[in-house]
Amino acid sequence: MSPTLSVASGERVPPAAVPRAATAAEPARIRLAANENPYGPSPRALAAAQDALGEACRYSDSCGELVAALAARHGVSAEDVVLGTGSFAILMWTVEAAMRPGGGAVVAHPSFDPVGDHAATFGPVSRVALDARSRLDLDAMASAITPSTRLVYVCNPNNPTSTLIDGPQLAAFCKRFAERTLVLVDEAYAEYVAELPSMDALVRDGVPIVVARTFSKLFGLAGLRVGYAIAPPALAARLRSARGVADRAWIAAPAARAAIASLDDVDYVPRVRREVGEVRARFVGALERLGLIVPTPAANFVYFPHAVPDALVAGMAARGVRIGSLAEPRACRITIGLPSEMTIAAEALAAVLPTLR
Ligand code: PMP
Repeated sequence: MSPTLSVASGERVPPAAVPRAATAAEPARIRLAANENPYGPSPRALAAAQDALGEACRYSDSCGELVAALAARHGVSAEDVVLGTGSFAILMWTVEAAMRPGGGAVVAHPSFDPVGDHAATFGPVSRVALDARSRLDLDAMASAITPSTRLVYVCNPNNPTSTLIDGPQLAAFCKRFAERTLVLVDEAYAEYVAELPSMDALVRDGVPIVVARTFSKLFGLAGLRVGYAIAPPALAARLRSARGVADRAWIAAPAARAAIASLDDVDYVPRVRREVGEVRARFVGALERLGLIVPTPAANFVYFPHAVPDALVAGMAARGVRIGSLAEPRACRITIGLPSEMTIAAEALAAVLPTLR
């Protein structure tokens, strides 16, 4: 199967514009550990970034336009949008805006660790186990919230498990706790879910939560560093002050132009989502045939428990396939790459797994 992805009106992503496809002869190129979109950015995003490079000598600020586009996308006002250099920055500013000496945080485990780790530099962090199907356990998280809890972090779909939680249940959770503590909902993988019940709807209703989004995942702009938060104005202002002194140009102009063009390319998201979904379904089938137990994935990666994850990672790396592992609980995470890459990954797993039993 071709490694390129067909895009609008029969165009194809130019091969030079995407990371080179893996082949058995050059296996070291198979990067399945960082949840990147192997199809690359939308061609429109690439063209927009390239055009903006010609103006690189200017302090041109495309951020206002990007904020307006994002406000329109989410049905909020420009005041509710805070840009960051990747959503990682948004997550860190939210931790800094929320935490105070003596206060604690509640996070799921396993989830996207940097949030809990940063919060832990301010106070105690309660790490709440997932349920039996590797989904966030909102009831258990609710029970962990105390009067001194300053921050609650919910990642949906969750990294590293790729599992999704119920939208109405999450909305009820947010409404219940938003006035007592800062609830941060990380929707980094939102675009991979066809009808994600995004918590942006709560922000539209003025519920004081922070929703973090990024252009790094399905939009394929990880290297350009564009993320944002949506939050009601008072909370957005707290994030901006955590961000630092006022400066209008937070995102490099080529990155902002690429992000705006990505939003304009309305066909790109469903096409990548469909392609990744098909490859993922085939890969999950291959994993299950190998005897692995895979919680239902919603994002562009899959997760499975394994007794010796580090040995599996090493065995895969020796075959040129980079995957991720977790020490506790013991598990592996594999990003959905190009079809050719997933074929090689499945073959490598079939070779390595029996050696570890
Ligand atoms: N949130 C989650 C759940 C992630 O997995 C990542 C990246 N792996 C991020 C946030 C940060 O991504 P970025 O800074 O590139 O937007």
